[in-house]
Amino acid sequence: MLKFNTCILGGGWAGLLVAERIAETNIKDIALIEANQPGELGGLLRTEEIDGFTFDCGGPHLLFSRDERILSKITEILKSNYSKRIRNNYVYYRDQFIPYPFENGVYRLNPEERVKIVKGIIDRMLYIAGNEDWKPAHFLEWITGFFGDYMANEYLIPYNEKIWKRPLNKLAADWVFSPGRLPFPELENMLLTVAGIPNTGYKEQAYFYYPNTGGIFSLFNSLYEKLSLNGVKSIKGEKVVRVKINSNNTFSINNKIITKKIISTIPLPELLLSLDDGSNYEGLAGKFDYNSVVVVGVAIRGKTPNQTTVYVPDPKIIFHRYTWMSSLVPPKEQDNSNIIAEVTVPKGQEIDFENIVKRVITGLLDMDVIEDESSVLFTRAWCNKYGYPIYSLNHNEVRREAMKILDNYGIKSVGRWGSWHYWNTDMVYKAVEEIYMLR
Ligand SMILES: Cc1cc2nc3c(=O)[nH]c(=O)nc-3n(C[C@H](O)[C@H](O)[C@H](O)COP(=O)(O)OP(=O)(O)OC[C@H]3O[C@@H](n4cnc5c(N)ncnc54)[C@H](O)[C@@H]3O)c2cc1C
Repeated sequence: MLKFNTCILGGGWAGLLVAERIAETNIKDIALIEANQPGELGGLLRTEEIDGFTFDCGGPHLLFSRDERILSKITEILKSNYSKRIRNNYVYYRDQFIPYPFENGVYRLNPEERVKIVKGIIDRMLYIAGNEDWKPAHFLEWITGFFGDYMANEYLIPYNEKIWKRPLNKLAADWVFSPGRLPFPELENMLLTVAGIPNTGYKEQAYFYYPNTGGIFSLFNSLYEKLSLNGVKSIKGEKVVRVKINSNNTFSINNKIITKKIISTIPLPELLLSLDDGSNYEGLAGKFDYNSVVVVGVAIRGKTPNQTTVYVPDPKIIFHRYTWMSSLVPPKEQDNSNIIAEVTVPKGQEIDFENIVKRVITGLLDMDVIEDESSVLFTRAWCNKYGYPIYSLNHNEVRREAMKILDNYGIKSVGRWGSWHYWNTDMVYKAVEEIYMLR
């Protein structure tokens, strides 16, 4: 039996941040327990370099935040290996690349359409100003309630149906809606839009940070190396399947490891199913809903355009967005480029990789992103089983019930999957800080 003071379940971004916080205290006997083997570490922050092309296998990871302090804490991890970049994002709408966010970029459309979109938003602003208690009952109502029917039907509904793959009125609104914080664009920007004058929209999205070399894995690896130097152990290839609570207030993990404390960052339903306390948690675990995300990498003969990410609401095209990885990390051959396209797959649905890759290429051809099939140098596909947590209407109740069970055993659970929230790296950072301060 291996013995530790504290075990952190899951060695992704959240697990490493928890380890960093604990290593700052006088607790020294810490281990990360990670399912993946060496060479496959990083969780969603994994990157692969293939033939001189860099691919972020967990999807594009651009570092940005509303919270400047947290953002600088994150970039600090990268030491000097990062730079500030301009975000050249677009929405592909009616065969045109409209600058993102859409409500600001519509200055590119014809005047009639600009008016319809902006009028829809202004109508809703006026309605909400006169009905301060208005609260969306579900995600669909949030979309139409803030952006009006025209923009909802043209862009937001098809885009969100593609990414979430659930009826939008069966998703909660509380994760996007907070009373008092309304997602309306600035009035001046809307007037500029109607007049056909370019404007950028929300500032924190105009720039992002990204590692200069090594893809997003450099962020993970830099922290991982620091922790190793500080004596944090890492047990790899060890999927947590059994957590037993012993009579002396210790836990045994997989009958191999004994620890006094557990902090978990593995998906909540997996943790519930591993609890060996005589209860059956299958029903509760089954209530957590999610989408997997298949990331398709395409290496292309041809240069990188001045674009970062493109959002694609068109329901005929399989991916909901793609990112020019070559705009983030230039490939070895400057005349070549590479893309990652994202396709979500609902929990439990079988994944047909061949068909997905084929349809990604068809989509890129239809959009004229690639000229012909002969310009495709190679493709790769990665499946991230846990990609997007789904905010079902009962998500708060389900999460609360799970946390109550864990609380009984003194187990904290945090991270995108440990907290079961649609969180970026900055929100995970914040949540880990908070949990640490509570201890
Ligand atoms: C498509 C996509 C795009 C994103 N884009 C951005 C972005 O632009 N900017 C940004 O800041 N964030 C982005 N994010 C979010 C970011 O990836 C997450 O916030 C962060 O990586 C979550 O870290 P985590 O440790 O909570 O989860 P994960 O990275 O999933 O780590 C969980 C770890 O636990 C391990 N594990 C799972 N089950 C077990 C088990 N039973 N036993 C042991 N180990 C287990 C896994 O192997 C994994 O290593 C994106 C996410 C996705 C999916």
